[in-house]
Amino acid sequence: MDNIKKPASLEIQRKNYTDIFQLFLQNERLTKQNIVNALHLSLPTVTQNINLLCQQGLLCEAGTMGNTGGRRAMTYSFSADARIAIGVDITRNHVAIVAVDLRGAVFYKERVRKKFERCDDYYRFLGDMVRHCIEQIQCPEERILGVGIGVPGLVTADNQTVFYGEILHFTGETCANMSRYIPYPTALLNDASAAGFAETWINKDIKTAFYLMLSNNIGGAVIIDGSPYAGYHHHSGEVGHLCIERNGRPCYCGQKGCVDRYLAATELSDLTDGRLADFFALLEKKDPRALACWDTYLDDLALTNRNVHMLFDCPIILGGYVGEYIAPYMDEIRRRTGALDPFETDAEYLHACHYRTEAIAAGSALHFIVKFLETV
Ligand SMILES: [Zn+2]
Repeated sequence: MDNIKKPASLEIQRKNYTDIFQLFLQNERLTKQNIVNALHLSLPTVTQNINLLCQQGLLCEAGTMGNTGGRRAMTYSFSADARIAIGVDITRNHVAIVAVDLRGAVFYKERVRKKFERCDDYYRFLGDMVRHCIEQIQCPEERILGVGIGVPGLVTADNQTVFYGEILHFTGETCANMSRYIPYPTALLNDASAAGFAETWINKDIKTAFYLMLSNNIGGAVIIDGSPYAGYHHHSGEVGHLCIERNGRPCYCGQKGCVDRYLAATELSDLTDGRLADFFALLEKKDPRALACWDTYLDDLALTNRNVHMLFDCPIILGGYVGEYIAPYMDEIRRRTGALDPFETDAEYLHACHYRTEAIAAGSALHFIVKFLETV
């Protein structure tokens, strides 16, 4: 019988290291003994891995805790700012930028008015915004994982090309071209998919959901077990082009009666010169025109929610520009949706978004955060 203890294989060492790191992602602070108990590892193994993670800057000491009398145990916590990622959200008239840490927290954000143009000047402007952001957060270069760029268009599986970009008229545009002034790894992300991913990443209780993006155009994303379901040709979840009125209003896609023409935020903000905040202020004052407009909008929204729920039977998160203001109206939206739903008349599956404004940019940054966390 061979009693000599063999060294753990590289594979097991790798697994122990990953398991310990993942445990820190789920807990604020841990002692070595906590890890020994949770993962059934030996104390020397835990100590060796903690030392390694500390050397790499991914863990740090976080004070002591424990019994009175005996020696107090050192706790360790995960260094959320060990790496960061930048997210950019490009729309027709604005650019938003955020910096996100390894826990997905947004710790810097800026939004400026800038009309999209498919030209060198605009892309130079994007590069300037990224540089300004990094100067502001004073982050060492080696900690920056990459820059995710959220766009209102459909992008290829490799995140490199826009293959349908009718909203900004930039079909065929590439990541390499758009990021020519950004000296970090970059990726293009569909806006609704990035936002839906961000919402389910931050919410521990909702990992499968449909994200309905109620912005100046309507987008949607199917998130299954925390991952966007892109579809065979990367255009799943395009709820904006579900038809809710046969021969209805003409849509930019060439069809008629699409959801996009009924639920776009502009259906509301057209009443207040394009300012959505002003619309909701009018609504709060019970202005009759705003009330009438909102009444129609809620009926169209309820019908759309019902259709989505019939297909997916999962939570629906309402986000986008309208999502920013929607929380006080959720009871009424649930009531109207529930009245159309043959199975769940309380429509408790409807949720207001968590990120009120920066979901697309945050989700675009998370693309790099997730990739990094998967490799640790
Ligand atoms: Zn359409």
